[in-house]
Amino acid sequence: HLEIIDAARTELADLSGALLNQIQSQAQSIDLLKQQVGLDGMTRLNTHQRVLEILKQEIRRAARYGSPLSIIMADVDHFKSVNDFFGHQAGDHALTCVAAHLKKLLRDSDHIARYGGEEFAVILPMTPLKDALLTAERLRKSVASEKITYNERSISLTMSFGVAAWEKNRDIGTEALIKMADEALYDAKHGGRNTCCVYKDQNPNPTPTIT
Ligand code: GH3
Ligand code: MG
Ligand code: MG
Repeated sequence: HLEIIDAARTELADLSGALLNQIQSQAQSIDLLKQQVGLDGMTRLNTHQRVLEILKQEIRRAARYGSPLSIIMADVDHFKSVNDFFGHQAGDHALTCVAAHLKKLLRDSDHIARYGGEEFAVILPMTPLKDALLTAERLRKSVASEKITYNERSISLTMSFGVAAWEKNRDIGTEALIKMADEALYDAKHGGRNTCCVYKDQNPNPTPTIT
């Protein structure tokens, strides 16, 4: 009898091992599938690749209809210190929370992506620079006041934002528009972080010209 029980135990262990392997490989396939449809596995936001495609389409649309279009590049401040202080897993959790939080604050018609490790890109169709800056400011304030909890420890984050608008007369392509928002983000970082900056050649509140 004991022999039969032992054999059954071994068989059961083998089976559960095989099942676990199968589950793991299925999880990997799901992650791969998500990547292929343009979703980032960790944050479930659009991927870098996907947002470039979306931006290309939106620029085409803005050019055709003469509608406004703006983008925001956003980066978590001193995120390396967050990892160093709380640990990488806590960092991952914080990033997932920030991603969900940002998405919740945007309109359904906006597009948000995880552009890099702790950097996000937001595309705002039908939105002029002035309103994009207001949006960035709203995101900034909200992230700064949000409390993230991990293992009963509270993590506070701030983010810096760079804002730029597509302009019909300047023939700005995907790369150029991202570069403009990136430069504005650089200014926000160097201006002390936890702040929003607009691309240097663009003015969100142009004064009307008197003729
Ligand atoms: P800054 O204010 O200038 O942006 O400082 P920073 O520390 O955020 O910038 P830096 O580029 O030096 O570091 C980014 C850090 O973000 C380093 C990297 O390990 C971390 N990071 C990137 N992606 C992930 C991720 O998916 N999970 C975790 N936990 N950390 C990540
Ligand atoms: Mg950073
Ligand atoms: Mg970064």
